[in-house]
Amino acid sequence: MKLKVINSGSKGNAYILQSQDEALLIECGVRISDIKNAFNFDFSKLVGCIVTHEHGDHAKSIKDLMHYGIDVHATEGTHAALQTSSNHRAKSFELHETFKLGNFKIMPFDIMHDAVEPCGFLIDHPECGKVLFITDLIFCAYTFPNLNNIIIEANYDEAIAKRKLNDMEFLRNRIIKNHMSLDTCVKTLKANDLSKVNNIVLIHLSDSNSDELMFKDTVAEATGKTVSVANAGLTIDFNKTPF
Ligand SMILES: [Zn+2]
Ligand SMILES: [Zn+2]
Repeated sequence: MKLKVINSGSKGNAYILQSQDEALLIECGVRISDIKNAFNFDFSKLVGCIVTHEHGDHAKSIKDLMHYGIDVHATEGTHAALQTSSNHRAKSFELHETFKLGNFKIMPFDIMHDAVEPCGFLIDHPECGKVLFITDLIFCAYTFPNLNNIIIEANYDEAIAKRKLNDMEFLRNRIIKNHMSLDTCVKTLKANDLSKVNNIVLIHLSDSNSDELMFKDTVAEATGKTVSVANAGLTIDFNKTPF
């Protein structure tokens, strides 16, 4: 399995889990042309797209994907917010109920964010094992056993944000209220059993309130794991075992 990052961050998010035979698109918050390019204009192996919530940086191309005959799976609340519910390619899932797309088993779960019905995903596939995908959240209320790979938001560093904003601005800041800080990211990771984890991929880094190298080093040091930052175009091996 490969993880391909089309883009990550507040300007757009889209990630592909791609095996020899099938691919899953996670988020579609980039231009449809960028998605088509990432698939070399061939959607034949794409089993569907899953979307965490309605914000444009996660859902921008939802209608275009449906137009190309791709099923897009999201909560009812997300489809309602995007006014896509009536499209026959709009599939709604229930939180905490596992569904299958190809060989991908997907369990969506609730998270807190300023959206109608946002979620995170626990994705299980024979090649990449159990993958946790969480973004656009303040903290994660759950822990997950037997994870093999983790894709997690590390949005801002409190110290960097505080240096740029005064105290009132810091408290009022929408990002601080709705996104995961580096500190919370590390705590969330450490709350889980990481013994079988091969990769930790940091996503949705803030342009102005983060520091890529420092984030990567901090998480690597705290977890002892291989850490990558999800820059546009990154492709990494994403398997259940390291070999
Ligand atoms: Zn976002
Ligand atoms: Zn959002």
